[in-house]
Amino acid sequence: MEELLERLLAECRPWTERGRVADYIPELGKQDPAALGVYVIGSEGRHSWAGDWDKPFSIQSVVKPILLLQALMDNGIEAVQSRVGMEATGKPFDAINAGEQTLDSAHLNPMVNMGAIVMCTLIHGGSYEERFRRLLELTRRMAGDESIGVDEAAYRSEKTHGSKNRALAYLLKSYGLLEGDVEEVLDCYFRACAIRVNCRSLAHIGAVLSNRGRAPVSGERIFPSAFARYVNAILVTCGMYDGSGEFAIRVGVPAKSGVSGSIMAAVPTRMGIGIFAPALDGKGNSLAGIHLLERLSKELYLSIF
Ligand code: GLU
Repeated sequence: MEELLERLLAECRPWTERGRVADYIPELGKQDPAALGVYVIGSEGRHSWAGDWDKPFSIQSVVKPILLLQALMDNGIEAVQSRVGMEATGKPFDAINAGEQTLDSAHLNPMVNMGAIVMCTLIHGGSYEERFRRLLELTRRMAGDESIGVDEAAYRSEKTHGSKNRALAYLLKSYGLLEGDVEEVLDCYFRACAIRVNCRSLAHIGAVLSNRGRAPVSGERIFPSAFARYVNAILVTCGMYDGSGEFAIRVGVPAKSGVSGSIMAAVPTRMGIGIFAPALDGKGNSLAGIHLLERLSKELYLSIF
């Protein structure tokens, strides 16, 4: 496996020169576009890696499935579905997803920003501090790393430059889809996106999802298998932004990407994969990351379709 990963990394490296690092969050603009790393955890507990797997980065949108899981664990499936829909929007992750005079919950899903912002309000806790602490705790358990914390520079950078997300949250509020103090909800969302991880953390998270809610090796049940089914299905239809259809054809596994250039993939019953390559394509997906996953999927017959 290590040899295969090394070879695929070498084959995909040229793609790191074709994409662009996100800079609408200024801190992300400082990332090295040449970075490329991968980490794989098999269902039997075997770890394999190559390249810059241990470079830290902010989790960004890869936190969205964890936000959804925490909301499901606190409220159950029906309550979550009544607040945010499950259909692909076919639009960019930060699109203002309103019709001329309408915005209803069916227009959202938990993998686009508006849906994820609503998920923050569904996490139980007496304060947003506590809600965030519980989300961080779940992230640590899934990632198998108690030391995971927040990248303060990424958090401050997005909080200062997050006008678009602020607009989305106030729009939700104006349509009655968001309860509570908008700035507090946004602060929780920005902190969530700034949780600092590496490829191994993402491989762990993917392994738990691929193992239907149980941590590999320890066997600890973190969430019910019905929630894993729910999240994995949404990852297939909406996890790779408005490139999810093409990704399903080219790679064919549940996955989530983030604008820091990472991809978390959960291959049902087989493995969790974490990838980091910050140069993005036009839709916000890691360019080299998608090529790497496509090749890995072909070599190991990973597609679920
Ligand atoms: N924090 C980012 C935002 O809300 C996350 C976007 C992403 O990774 O897709 O713009």
